[in-house]
Amino acid sequence: MIVKEKKNGRKSAGLTIAAILLLLTGVGIQIGLGVWQYRQSCETAGAVLTEIRQAAELQAESERSRLIPIAENGQTQVRLRLEKLAARKGRTLRNKHLELLLLVNPWNKVPEGYVPELAPVSHWNQMTSGYEADARCTEALTQMLNDCMLGGGLPYVCSAYRTQDYQQMLFDDKIDRLLEEGVSPDIAPTVAARSVAIPGTSEHQLGLALDIIDENYPGLNEAQEWTPTQQWLMKHCWEYGFILRYPNGTSDITGIIYEPWHYRYVGTAHAQAIHERELTLEEYLAMRRGR
Ligand SMILES: [Zn+2]
Repeated sequence: MIVKEKKNGRKSAGLTIAAILLLLTGVGIQIGLGVWQYRQSCETAGAVLTEIRQAAELQAESERSRLIPIAENGQTQVRLRLEKLAARKGRTLRNKHLELLLLVNPWNKVPEGYVPELAPVSHWNQMTSGYEADARCTEALTQMLNDCMLGGGLPYVCSAYRTQDYQQMLFDDKIDRLLEEGVSPDIAPTVAARSVAIPGTSEHQLGLALDIIDENYPGLNEAQEWTPTQQWLMKHCWEYGFILRYPNGTSDITGIIYEPWHYRYVGTAHAQAIHERELTLEEYLAMRRGR
C-alpha cells in the first residue's frame, strides 16, 4: 500500500514537472514570439520611417528643382512681373541701358506710354532754369555747360524735355507761321515737319535731347554753328556723352534739317564711337545691327 502510494506520488510529481516544463516551454514560445513580433514591428516601423524620410527628401528635391530655375531666371521672373505691373499701368517697361540709343525720327515714333525719369536742368545761366531732362544726362549736361563756359562759350538750354501736348503745340504754331508766310495749306504740315518734329516723333519727348544755344546769338539757324558755344560743343560734346544729332548734310538720313544746336545724350561710350566714325545715330545703329 505504501509502495503504491509512493509510486502514485512519484507519478504525480512527474506529471507536475512535465506540466511545469510544458508551461515553461509555452512561456518560452510566447516570449520568443513576442520578441519576433517586436522585431518585426521595429523593422516595419523602421521601413515606414525610411519611407517617410525618402518621401520628405523627394519633396524637398522637387521643391528645389521647382525653385532653382526661378532663382536662375530671377531677373527674367522679376522682369515679367514688372512688365505685368507696367502693362496694368499702361506703361511699357524700358531697358534702361538700350534706350540710351532709342531711335526716334520721322519713321520711328516715341514708344507709347514712354515717360522718362526727369530731373531739373541746372546751370549758372538763369535762362536755363525751369527745364527738365532725363535724370541720366542732367549731371553730364551741367558739367558740359560749365566747361563750355570756361572754354569761351556762353551756352544756355532753350529746350529740353517736351510732353506730347507741348510738341503738338509747337507743331501747330509752326504750321500757323508757315500759313502766314503764304505757304499752301496742302504742304504746310510737310514743310513744318522738316524743322519741328511731328508730335510723337520728337527726340525731346525722350528727355534725352537738348537745344543749346549761345546767349549772344540765340537764333535757331545755321549761323548758330559759328558761335563760340557751338564751336566748343561740337568739338567736346562726345566727352560728356552727347552727340550733335543732326549734322550738316545728313537730312536725308535723319529726316531733319541741319540743327547746330540740338544735342542728344547717348552715354560716353556710344558718343565716342559715333564721334570717331563721324556717323549719325541712324548710321551707328545700322552699323551695330550689321555686326
Ligand atoms: Zn531740338
